Amino acid sequence: MDLELKGRVAAVAAASKGLGRAIAERLAREGASVAICARSPDALERTAQEIQGRTGAEVLAVPADVATPEGPKRFIARTVERFGRLDVLVTNAGGPPPGNFFDVSDAQWEAAFQLTVMSAVRLCREAVPHMQKQKWGRIVHITSVSVKQPLDTLLLSNALRLAVIGLSKHLARELAPHNITVNAVCPGPIATERLEQLIQAQAQLKGLSVEEARAAWTREIPMGRLGQPQELADVVAFLASERASFLTGVALQVDGGMVKFVL
Ligand code: NAD
Repeated sequence: MDLELKGRVAAVAAASKGLGRAIAERLAREGASVAICARSPDALERTAQEIQGRTGAEVLAVPADVATPEGPKRFIARTVERFGRLDVLVTNAGGPPPGNFFDVSDAQWEAAFQLTVMSAVRLCREAVPHMQKQKWGRIVHITSVSVKQPLDTLLLSNALRLAVIGLSKHLARELAPHNITVNAVCPGPIATERLEQLIQAQAQLKGLSVEEARAAWTREIPMGRLGQPQELADVVAFLASERASFLTGVALQVDGGMVKFVL
């Protein structure tokens, strides 16, 4: 299947490692020029060079904190300056810290809101006008299975990611006449640094060994294993492609069968 991503320009947020990095590399392999951001310039530049070396695509590294008002602005402005257009936006950020209700302060709620919700809002605000001009665009929000089935000890993710789904569904309808699709993917447990940190934090919170906490995650997945970052990246590449041209407003779990709801 030709995804027709050759010559497209993609901005993938929070992509020095983990899911963002895998998505950036997948889009680059399909022939897109890719811009990536993260806070730490050194790690980001290394990732950009590695992706460029492995795919031959042009990869631009823009140091930016997506949880701030300036970060998304700088990221999208530099992308368009360098490549002259923007076709695909993948919103992504670090995950909010784990905790149950009485563990989380007002300051942590506010920080998680900026990181999880406002990063997506601001990235879209900067990116959409470029897509509207071209009458073509793809937005993919990276969220979590927590929007479909709450995850133990992850109150901030369970509560705030639903706002991103609301944003995504609203934008899908508002932007459809501009030939811009807007979808969300909801990863289940996928083997990245973030998941490793969560497993360790949950082991502590629940008084389990790290191995017991890891086994508890895997038990929830009918496929009996964690996902790999490229398995999510493949789905995102499809949603970002010409092949998904009549698909908008969905929230699609990529979770080895973990979510139990029927529809
Ligand atoms: P990760 O920790 O492995 O990577 C996160 C990336 O985001 C890194 O490149 C980091 O530098 C960057 N980043 C963090 N905060 C940032 C900020 N404020 N501004 C710019 N860049 C920032 O995490 P991951 O596993 O790739 O997860 C990505 C997102 O998907 C997170 O929100 C996570 O909670 C969510 N998620 C992950 C899983 C999983 O199993 N891996 C499952 C569901 C949801």
